[in-house]
Amino acid sequence: MKTLGLYIHIPFCESKCYYCDFLSFDNKLDKVNKYIDSLCIHILNQKHEINKVGITTIFIGGGTPSMLDIGQLTKLLTCLHENIDMKQLKEFTIECNPNSITTDKIKLFKDYGVNRISLGLQAWQNGLLKNIGRIHTQKDFIDAYYNLRNEGFDNINVDIMFSLPNQTMKMLEETIKNIVKFDINHISCYGLTIEANTRMAKMYENGEYTFPDEILDRDMYHYICDFLISNGYKHYEISNFAKASYECMHNLIYWELDDYIGLGLGAHSYYKDKRYHNAERLDIYQDEALNNDFKKYDIQNIDLKSKYEEYMFLGLRKIDGIDIYEFEKKFKVKVFDIYQNKVESLISQGLIDYSNHNIKLTKKGIDLSNYVFINFLL
Ligand code: SF4
Repeated sequence: MKTLGLYIHIPFCESKCYYCDFLSFDNKLDKVNKYIDSLCIHILNQKHEINKVGITTIFIGGGTPSMLDIGQLTKLLTCLHENIDMKQLKEFTIECNPNSITTDKIKLFKDYGVNRISLGLQAWQNGLLKNIGRIHTQKDFIDAYYNLRNEGFDNINVDIMFSLPNQTMKMLEETIKNIVKFDINHISCYGLTIEANTRMAKMYENGEYTFPDEILDRDMYHYICDFLISNGYKHYEISNFAKASYECMHNLIYWELDDYIGLGLGAHSYYKDKRYHNAERLDIYQDEALNNDFKKYDIQNIDLKSKYEEYMFLGLRKIDGIDIYEFEKKFKVKVFDIYQNKVESLISQGLIDYSNHNIKLTKKGIDLSNYVFINFLL
């Protein structure tokens, strides 16, 4: 069966986290109603294309989708249900901030077939959350978690971050140990990267906080991996851990180079051998909606060579790596006909491993993954 993912972007947040360079606004909240109307026009505009294949996953991300009010969420979810064929749908995720998810919203999600919730916790300590500009507290997370469980949600992801300003190893340990006490099926762990033009970048320049060095960064990452694996989680992607059969299907679509369509401001698509994104300026996106004429920006034709490259470096993000028979099935050519020398060289450097027809990163390879990925560019 062909898979197709649908990503829907909600570019609004109550407040901008200090490290965030995602396409999200905290200063345009008066535009939310109009945006939801535009998004519904976008869904109608693309529904025939989407329904030709049928979607297997939906991911509503942002931004903060849970900050929409009940009316806005109902409008969006109704529009999706009335127009998108969901017969093949297996996973339907909504990203939520612990402080804006209410019982009414959870019930609504349930009614509309949402079966996976992604909660942005990031850290356990309220002081640390404040340091990075998060507006929720530890208690908000605990309340949100029990609220979700009471309403029957069992597929919950929690996002956490490490290498945060002033974060010590002890603090990270406390975060991970506390999350594991909850019955969480999926945990995503990302190291902080300081992006240009963010408040965090200024804090870094001004020496306002101490940021963990590279050695502590790696120690934190290795601690997370070891602790979660020893607590029954499968480390299935560089930054992702799941209990058995709770891997995120939507993200697997990205890592396995399958098609996905992005709707909403700035959302990216990989569809029919092309990568492109939607308008990134809100006023332009609204105008396109008004004219029912949504343009595709920065269209890249993904030729066969690019597909080999992308399949390798996206696939190697998975801890099981690349199955050489899957590669052959997808491209009708053997992976070693293209990458024999590269694979041998990376094996000799201890960065990748080849066994049981899988090519995968070693522990050292995970720490140097960007270097490994570059090697697969042709
Ligand atoms: S909630 Fe997410 S999207 Fe919004 S500002 Fe924070 S990190 Fe960015």
